[in-house]
Parts: sequence; C-alpha cells; structure tokens
Amino acid sequence: MIIKIINNFYHHIRAILIGLKYLLSPGIRITLKYPDELPILPENYRGMLKLNNELCISCGLCSQICPAGAINLKLFEHEQTKQVGRHPEVDYKRCIFCGFCIDICPSKALELTRIHDAAFYVEDELYYEVNRLIIGPKIDPPCMRSKYVISEIDEVRGIVYRNA
Ligand code: SF4
Ligand code: SF4
Repeated sequence: MIIKIINNFYHHIRAILIGLKYLLSPGIRITLKYPDELPILPENYRGMLKLNNELCISCGLCSQICPAGAINLKLFEHEQTKQVGRHPEVDYKRCIFCGFCIDICPSKALELTRIHDAAFYVEDELYYEVNRLIIGPKIDPPCMRSKYVISEIDEVRGIVYRNA
C-alpha cells in the first residue's frame, strides 16, 4: 500500500515537472499555435468529402461500406442537367474520416478534400445534403498572419515544425 502511494506520488510529481519544462521552455513546444500556424497536410490527407454527381451511378456502395452510418442516399435531380439519381448525403456528426467510401466508389464520384477544420454555427449544418456535397466544404481563408509549417519527426522531441 505504502509503495503504491509513493509510486503514484512519484508519477504525479514527474508529470508536473514535465509540464513545467514545456511551460518554461517554449522553444521545445510541440504543439502548433493554430490558426496562426497551419500545417501543410500530406497529399492523401483524409478531410471532408466532395461529390461529382455526374459520375455517381447510384450503386449505394458508399452507404453500405460506411462503418459509421454517416451516408444516406437521396433521390436528387440536378438543376441544370435534370439528371436524376440516388446520390449520397453525409452526416459529419457521424463521419470518422476513414475514407472507405472513397476507396469503394467504383466511378470515383466521391473525392477527399484536405479540408478538415470547417466550423459550423448550428448542428444541422453538419449534415451535407447532395447539393452541398457537390459544392464541397468551404472554409474562410486563413487569417493574414497565418503561416504554413512543415512537420518533421525529431529523434528526441517527437514532432518539430519548421517554416514552409
Ligand atoms: S469517410 Fe468513412 S465514416 Fe466518413 S462517410 Fe466515408 S465511409 Fe463513412
Ligand atoms: S458516390 Fe460512388 S459509391 Fe456512392 S452511390 Fe455514387 S457511385 Fe456508388
């Protein structure tokens, strides 16, 4: 019992000391000052989805494979082409950004964007019906003082960032 208490005490002190180290030495900080600093994301980053409804063949595979139940198929008529089909809608309250729907889509109608940090005023905006999925996610441009950084693996510190 005594040993367990000493052990817990030791780990608490150690955690506090590590926190103090990062607090007092900002040079070794490993977090980003988001949104002042923005990471350059890799090519294949899995962000929000975009739909090309003209390629969609209404097969429903995206809806079937989705492990989070985030995709519903809805009957949709395109305003200009009058093309009618059952196309996906995405509920971002459920989506886990696994990319399975992209992988399985036989006609490449769904694509990934690298946008991941969209913000919404109300919960309903997280539901992307077909029209919004065709337009794709939009975010405000980064503020003027934002700068892009590249992340690199460091043997000692784990991740470090340098200016792009
Ligand atoms: S990315 Fe994954 S969770 Fe999100 S809609 Fe596609 S299959 Fe579903
Ligand atoms: S988006 Fe792709 S997988 Fe989904 S219904 Fe259309 S063609 Fe099928």
